[in-house]
Amino acid sequence: MDAVQENLGLVAEETLDPLDWADVQALSHRVIDDAVDYLRDVRDRPVWREMPADVRKAFSAPLPRSPAPLDAVYAEVSRTVMSYPMGNIHPRFWSWYMGSSNFTGALGDFLAAIQGSNLGGGNHAAGLMDSQVVNWCKEMLGFPASAGGTLVSGGSMANIIGLTVARNVKAGIDVREHGVAAIEKPLRFYGSEQIHSCHRKAMEALGLGNRALRRIPTDAGLRIDIAALRAAITEDRRAGFKPACVIGTAGTVNTGAIDDLQALAKLAHEEDLWFHVDGCIGALIAIAPENAHRVAGIERADSVALDPHKWLHAPFEVGCALVRDAAAHRGAFAVTPEYLESMPRGLASGEWLHDYGLQTSRGFRALKVWMALKEHGVEKFGRLIDQNIAQAVYLAGLIEAAPRLQLAASPTVNIVCFRYQPGLTGEALKALNTEIMLRLQEQGIAALSDTTVHGEHWLRVAITNHRTRREDLDLLVHETVRLGHDIATQGSAPS
Ligand SMILES: *Cc1c(COP(=O)(O)O)cnc(C)c1O
Repeated sequence: MDAVQENLGLVAEETLDPLDWADVQALSHRVIDDAVDYLRDVRDRPVWREMPADVRKAFSAPLPRSPAPLDAVYAEVSRTVMSYPMGNIHPRFWSWYMGSSNFTGALGDFLAAIQGSNLGGGNHAAGLMDSQVVNWCKEMLGFPASAGGTLVSGGSMANIIGLTVARNVKAGIDVREHGVAAIEKPLRFYGSEQIHSCHRKAMEALGLGNRALRRIPTDAGLRIDIAALRAAITEDRRAGFKPACVIGTAGTVNTGAIDDLQALAKLAHEEDLWFHVDGCIGALIAIAPENAHRVAGIERADSVALDPHKWLHAPFEVGCALVRDAAAHRGAFAVTPEYLESMPRGLASGEWLHDYGLQTSRGFRALKVWMALKEHGVEKFGRLIDQNIAQAVYLAGLIEAAPRLQLAASPTVNIVCFRYQPGLTGEALKALNTEIMLRLQEQGIAALSDTTVHGEHWLRVAITNHRTRREDLDLLVHETVRLGHDIATQGSAPS
């Protein structure tokens, strides 16, 4: 404090910055060293384990009122959070559908937070990189460079972005100004009965209601039945509805089925519908040389949702919405008030990225995607997708060859549904397989999930994992047979 401040009775201001940067530096080095070890040794740890009571209890501690040394804060995080992860970075995690993250992406998240920019917009480097990553997504899918797009929190939000533009373009009125109640004929959206649940939420949030999303039956391969779709559209027109949008799925969450995107593009054109593709699972197959043909036609969509935190393994969260008509995209969201008006020069010049979605403040999601793409190159990511699809075929072969294992169907992409079948039916068969799934998790061996396909219960393996090796799949099959045999012969007593 200098003499003037002292005379005025002023004390030094507080800040969140440390008193001693050298301390923080030492701790940060330790955090990074631990983080590298954590990823290097992930294979040696259980996929998942139940939290003991004292760890659970830590999360009901009250709001801290007084300070604690950062070392102690980090020690607690190591003991609780870091020791009991979901497990999706593990080579034998195949539950639901998610990526397995990567170290470079984690560095990207760290640097994004250090640099601290708000990607709502403005004239700064992070904003340009955000747009560049959107442009790279267009290029990966064969979308025109003139298309619009935005990075969002994930696939669900990316789908909402696409469906909002579809609703506004097809409403026939200024729906932003007058709302859905002013729409003359009720809009109808279409998707297969295998459509992801986020579309239901989207329809509800858009004020159209769940019933406005008509679920169309699927064929034997669980792809949307094009003839049934056409008939539904005709029927709805006759009944006074306005068919507005067809949602194609490139990779269903149940089995990885890919709708016939070429046929849907053609039908949407003929019927004057918006063509949206939910490509959260499969859009990125477009970069995989062996399998890209499976998603041919995706580049004809009016909008696409894709998910870099799945098959690009970006740390959560990052999704991307692409909209062919950039003006329609901006027209659905832009509300730039005067205090955010663009200046001809300086920080507030350039585009406001918040004009392409629902958020105002936006995180610097682009950096983690950008750094990993730059380090490895897009071709490596394409090969990793091919590798996962080949591993699914390998696993299907192991299942077919194993005693008492039954395969639901040959995998289309990277999802394999199977079960242990010692000659049971119905609920007994489901209970046995559920117990196998739970023991695989509880014994830290592997994480799978389960689902219903054609009305039957199956275990489900989704290999979106750059750490999985064939030996992991060998182990899965071996352990499933072991557990299935144990449970079937000993009843459901814990092993
Ligand atoms: C994962 C997924 C979503 C939702 O994406 P999030 O990133 O989890 O929000 C939507 N559709 C499909 C087909 C998905 O697999």
